[in-house]
Amino acid sequence: MSAAIQLPGHPFVAYRGHALHTEDVALDALADQYGTPLFVYSKASMLSALAAYQRGFAGRSAQICYAMKANSSLGVLQVFADAGCGFDIVSGGELDRVVAAGGDVRKVIFSGVGKTRAEMHQALAAGIGCFNIESEAELEVLSGVATGMGLRAPVSIRVNPNVDPKTHPYISTGLKGNKFGVAHEDALRIYQHAASLPGLRVVGIDCHIGSQITETTPYLEAMDRVLDLVASIEAAGIPIEHIDFGGGLGINYNNDTPPEADALWLQLLAKLDQRGYSGKKLMIEPGRSLVGNAGVCLTEVLYVKPGEQKNFCIIDAAMNDLPRPAMYQAFHAIVPLSDKAGNTPTVTYDVVGPVCESGDWIGRDRVLDVAAGTRLAVLSAGAYCMSMASNYNTRGRAAEVLVDGKAAHLIRQRENSQDQMRHEQLVG
Ligand SMILES: *Cc1c(COP(=O)(O)O)cnc(C)c1O
Repeated sequence: MSAAIQLPGHPFVAYRGHALHTEDVALDALADQYGTPLFVYSKASMLSALAAYQRGFAGRSAQICYAMKANSSLGVLQVFADAGCGFDIVSGGELDRVVAAGGDVRKVIFSGVGKTRAEMHQALAAGIGCFNIESEAELEVLSGVATGMGLRAPVSIRVNPNVDPKTHPYISTGLKGNKFGVAHEDALRIYQHAASLPGLRVVGIDCHIGSQITETTPYLEAMDRVLDLVASIEAAGIPIEHIDFGGGLGINYNNDTPPEADALWLQLLAKLDQRGYSGKKLMIEPGRSLVGNAGVCLTEVLYVKPGEQKNFCIIDAAMNDLPRPAMYQAFHAIVPLSDKAGNTPTVTYDVVGPVCESGDWIGRDRVLDVAAGTRLAVLSAGAYCMSMASNYNTRGRAAEVLVDGKAAHLIRQRENSQDQMRHEQLVG
C-alpha cells in the first residue's frame, strides 16, 4: 500500500492506496452501506482537537464547554460528554440533548439573546452551571423566574468588547451594532444592577467576539478589554469567579492558518498572568474548532451538465445538507473518494445540488474529474452543516456515521418522508 496522503486541515482523513479513509475506514464502503449524502465524523479528530485545548489549560482551573450548536448530534455530544466537557447551549432543546447524551448539566452554560421564561425555568430546574446574560431586560426576567422557584440563578454577563474579529459579518458578534452582549461602557452599571437582584448570583463575565477567527490579535485585544472590566467590577465590590472567553477559533477550510488552540492559549494565559488574574477560573466555548475538520460529507454525482458559460456538476447533496455556501458564501474543499484514475482533472465545474434555488451551490469553479456516479467528499463538514440542515424541498436529512479506529457507528438514520410528515395532518 502506498503512503497515506493527508488532506489539509484533516489529520484523520487520508488517501490510502487511492481510497479516501476516515481513520481506518474506507469512505467508499460507508457510502455503499449507508448511501449518500452521508456525514462521516472522526472521533479521534474531535478528541485531538479537544486535547489541544486541554494541553493549553494544563495546570489551570478551566472548563471547556463545547458550543453544541456547531454539531448537536447525540453521538457527537456523547464523545465530548465522555471526555469530561461541559456544553454551551442556546436553547432548551439543546439542554434536552445534553441530558439525552449523558452530559453533566452542572457544566452547562446557557447563552443566547432570546431565552424564554420556559427555557429559564427548565435550565434552573435542571441545575445548570451558569446563564450568560445578554441584556438588562433578561436579567430582570431571570431574577423573577428564579425567585418564583425559590432559587438564585448563577449568572455572567456577556460583554461586547467592540473588537473586530476580522471574519465574515454574519459570524462577527463582538462589534457595536451586533445584537449580542451588552456594551462595554454599560457593563459596570448592569453588573451593579445584577448584584442587586434577589434571584441572581453573579459568578462570572463572558465574551464571544465571533467565529472562524484566524488571528490571535482580536483575542488578545478582547482579553484586555474584559480584564479592564473585571478590575472595575471587582473594585465595585462584586467578585468575579470565572472569566469565559467564548469560542470562535477558526479552522482550515481553504488555506486558512488559524493558530493552534494550545499556542493561542499560551499567549492568552501569559497576558492573564501578566495582568494578575492567574487565579481566575477560565471557561471557553469552542464549537467549530472541535468538530469542523472532523467531518466530511459524502455525495455522489448525479449528472454532469455542460453549460454555455459554466459546466455544472450536479450532486445528491444540497444546500439543505450543507447550508454554509448559500448562507455565508463559504468555501468547502471537494475531493474524490477515489483518485485511482490518476488523471489530472482539467474541466472546471460549479458543483451544485438538486434544490430549486440558484443559491444551491456547494462549490464554484472547481477543477474535477467527474462523471455520473463519481463519489466526492465535501470537506470541513463537521460544524454548522448537519446542525443547520433543513428539509427544504422535502429532502430527508442525511445519515451520520461516527468512525472510531476500524469501527463505524451509525449515529443517525437517514430521514424518510414519513419522518418528515409525522407531525402534520390534513384538515379533518
Ligand atoms: C456560536 C457560539 C460559540 C461557538 O462558536 P465557534 O465559532 O463555533 O467556536 C461560542 N459561544 C457562543 C455564545 C456562541 O454563540
